[in-house]
Amino acid sequence: MPELPEVETTKRGLEPLLVGQTIAAVKIRDPRLRWPVETTLPARVETQRIRSLDRRGKYLIVSLDDGAMLIHLGMSGRLRYVTDESPPANHDHFEIAFSSGSKLRFNDPRRFGSLHFSDMPESHWLLKNLGPEPLGDGFTADYLYGISRGRRVAVKQLIMNGNIVVGVGNIYASEALFRAGIRPTRPAGRIAKHRYIGLVDSVRSVLEEAIRAGGTTLRDFRDGDGQAGYFQQELSVYGRAGESCDRCSEPIRQKTIGQRATYYCVACQR
Ligand SMILES: [Zn+2]
Repeated sequence: MPELPEVETTKRGLEPLLVGQTIAAVKIRDPRLRWPVETTLPARVETQRIRSLDRRGKYLIVSLDDGAMLIHLGMSGRLRYVTDESPPANHDHFEIAFSSGSKLRFNDPRRFGSLHFSDMPESHWLLKNLGPEPLGDGFTADYLYGISRGRRVAVKQLIMNGNIVVGVGNIYASEALFRAGIRPTRPAGRIAKHRYIGLVDSVRSVLEEAIRAGGTTLRDFRDGDGQAGYFQQELSVYGRAGESCDRCSEPIRQKTIGQRATYYCVACQR
């Protein structure tokens, strides 16, 4: 499933290809995505120019002269920039054709992705309740400490809640908690402020490393398969149940928290 780092590298890969292009036509081959694509969408965006490409959480925001398109990659979505006359592939659900002759195609076998148009994207229902960006200025130890007071929820669930902070998926939450030395099951409201300083640093560094790894493995979006790729990041705990901890050689434990597999070291994380 594309996580924040994969969406960010998709954004960086496509940005130079899309910004400045004029949309000639939008073809919806199958509107049955996670939410049905509105039939009025093509008419809203055709003839418009793309001003910028941004990311908010795991949404790509394609800003136009008037309004914006919101694209989510879902579980298996992928964007591919095509400059030749190759026919659409199976699961290519929509296509944005530009006046330059090139096209952007969205392929999504599982159809959990989405496409919306919005006049005011920042107040769109999908975006308006999102927490701060983990790599932005709003995600600080003060913020996390303050919002966690009085909460009994496990700290791992707190940082995976998109209304608290966006884009911290299961792998990144497990790895960040290991780096910060915090047990994932610990009630969020019982963690001291200085430990949240370490956690914020760890969340940022884990995500930044994944983005860097993605940047180096990012394949060319132009006529390529457009796969931002899964990043060959060194994982300290995730998926390593029973193996010995790199720091202390205790076996890594696995536990389910909020229906998600969670990995941690009982000796290093308290
Ligand atoms: Zn350990």
